[in-house]
Amino acid sequence: MVQDDLFFSNGRLGILNSDAVNRYGERFTIGALLQAFEGTNRLGLPTTLAHDAHRPIGWTVPLCIYLSREIASLVGQTYLAQDKNAAIELEGLYRQYLTYKDQEQFKPYLEEFRAALGPDKFDDGFRLYLECAAILKSDIAVAQFPSIFSQADDDGLIDLASLSDFKYLGAGVFQCGRFCIFADRKFRRSLSLANNTNFFFLDYFVALSDSGVKKRIAIDRDLIGYAPSFKVPIELEYWWGPKYNDDLSHISAGVTRHSSSERDRLYSQIEFTDFWWQSRKGEHIFEAEEIRASRTFSDLKADDAQKETFGCRYVHSIVNESTGLIEHLDGAIRTYTEEEMLARLDQALPEVGRKLKYKKLWRIDGKIKITQWKSLVHHFYLNNSLVGEYLGIEKSSDTERELPIELLGTSDALAAVVPYSISDATGIITGVTFDDRRSTLLDVDVKSYDTYKKPGSPAVYWVRNSTIEIVKLLRKQGLAVHFDDSLWVLKFKDRYIDLPVFELKDQAQVSVVLGSLRLYVSCLVSNSADTVVNFSLKYPLDAEVDVTISVVATEKNMQAFLDHACSGAMSLPTSLSTVEPFLDGVKRLNAKSPGPCPDVFGVCMKTGLVKCLRRRLGDEFDISFYTDKETGVLMFNMKIPKDKPHFLAAMKTKGLYPILALRIDSYDCDLCGGNYLLCGCTKALDSAKTRISKSTPIGTYWSDRPDV
Ligand SMILES: [Zn+2]
Repeated sequence: MVQDDLFFSNGRLGILNSDAVNRYGERFTIGALLQAFEGTNRLGLPTTLAHDAHRPIGWTVPLCIYLSREIASLVGQTYLAQDKNAAIELEGLYRQYLTYKDQEQFKPYLEEFRAALGPDKFDDGFRLYLECAAILKSDIAVAQFPSIFSQADDDGLIDLASLSDFKYLGAGVFQCGRFCIFADRKFRRSLSLANNTNFFFLDYFVALSDSGVKKRIAIDRDLIGYAPSFKVPIELEYWWGPKYNDDLSHISAGVTRHSSSERDRLYSQIEFTDFWWQSRKGEHIFEAEEIRASRTFSDLKADDAQKETFGCRYVHSIVNESTGLIEHLDGAIRTYTEEEMLARLDQALPEVGRKLKYKKLWRIDGKIKITQWKSLVHHFYLNNSLVGEYLGIEKSSDTERELPIELLGTSDALAAVVPYSISDATGIITGVTFDDRRSTLLDVDVKSYDTYKKPGSPAVYWVRNSTIEIVKLLRKQGLAVHFDDSLWVLKFKDRYIDLPVFELKDQAQVSVVLGSLRLYVSCLVSNSADTVVNFSLKYPLDAEVDVTISVVATEKNMQAFLDHACSGAMSLPTSLSTVEPFLDGVKRLNAKSPGPCPDVFGVCMKTGLVKCLRRRLGDEFDISFYTDKETGVLMFNMKIPKDKPHFLAAMKTKGLYPILALRIDSYDCDLCGGNYLLCGCTKALDSAKTRISKSTPIGTYWSDRPDV
């Protein structure tokens, strides 16, 4: 659980990953989600724009594993840097994080890598973790594989056919024995070693059939990797595969410029892209160049502003005019200084001088099919949607997905204010979150995260009155329960039994608490109370980690959950390794439920709990209380604002109600005549009846299960 008082404000909930099949046809198991949670729980992870390490925008903290009948998700909270100071602080934090990550990932391989490479080469190299543990040192790859580099052409490119001793691992990494070499670092986003390679392009390029073509590529001279540490990079961004028609004829001749919209530029950092077709000596020549809006990072030492350069992707191709066949295609980076860039912004592509710093990255010669040609160009220009636009594919709105997503406003008032609404058909909703171990004083600590705040006074924590029943049942079982006197006891006039977090001293109390909850819920079921029950249980998994399990279900489903949990058919986890079997057990219980589930964000809280959190009626509803003269019952009047007609509609047709919340000041027990908040009688075991003798109305809340 995290508090949202980090230096960032405005945290947003988001699904970091889920077990739904993504657009690449992959799915993550619950176990993989748990692993991702454990791996990032303590540090969280930086959030960047367009997977670019040089563009951190915030920090994401995983909150919980959320499990409903429909989906298992890793839910997190993203904090965006809100102002310049936060952005500066974020950059510092992010650098520390990257260094730490590099070291941590490198560490397990350090000794074997050093032994394999030899201390003389290893020790004065710079250690970093790319697709695998790697050493950065001038010409280290050349020293290790001299024969490869001696075959390089004038542009420094290496024929893929000469890499026959190497196995392609993916993402531009080639393995030979225990070592790897890497595609040139200018294949990476922002040309930076801090980023992934453009594996969309590289994987496609390497996989292209060799027959009739010669493929050449730039290999990074200064990097050697350690093959056993290789991991396939994953970017959960959808870069679509292009669908083109089969000719180039519809592409207009001459110079064409496609400029980015404001929003696209923010994402892609590209001002515009120029395309140019010209005819020269029986050849049709194509050139394309993108112009970046921000600097690139290929020169590690060029940190100061004076050395800021703009590396721009450039493509060149030759089509034979008499045969109509494409004979050649290559891709490069053309680098502009700041001064040159200022001039370039006012120039068209044909006017650009040829003196620019230039690094060829790949070329292909021979019979290239048009579809291949278009795919190579499209993939090389990863995240540049202007190229797809020019090549005649429809711009996909998916590329905009990664921008921070605002939760869309909903016209459904019920979904907006009772987003946790469920039925028997929903099944059981469960959340699991982890914390650093924190011990409790007594056997059970009743911990509320629910606050009530009146303008001008400090927030107070409250529990629902049903909590008193559970506390009494636990005490009857001999447990020492800490229930803070300062907690307000509230009664809501609806049928959501939202219980607080029961923090347990150790695992020995788990079965006692489950037994008491089971007794309580079975009373609800036998009275057909038609309630929704929500509780959370926090207890130590081991000496370092606490787990919190929260559950939301209708009383009937909650009974089934507790029956299974108490009988051992679906035990609550007792260690990190038994969390997954527990969640699988809940999944099986849910298998028979056919109904819709609420939106994840309607039930997941920033605390990592899964909860039914009531929403108050806003001031605009102008509530006024009065006592009915005949019955003496407390009533209230409300107004529906003109701009919220959907609330009236939801009240008329969808069962949305405003309900009253009261603070219980005095609670009489009819059995012993004492104060029920303090006496030992219970409803479940002693059939006690209670009467609220003094209460204070504290507000009105939305509900779809009013007391009837
Ligand atoms: Zn009593």
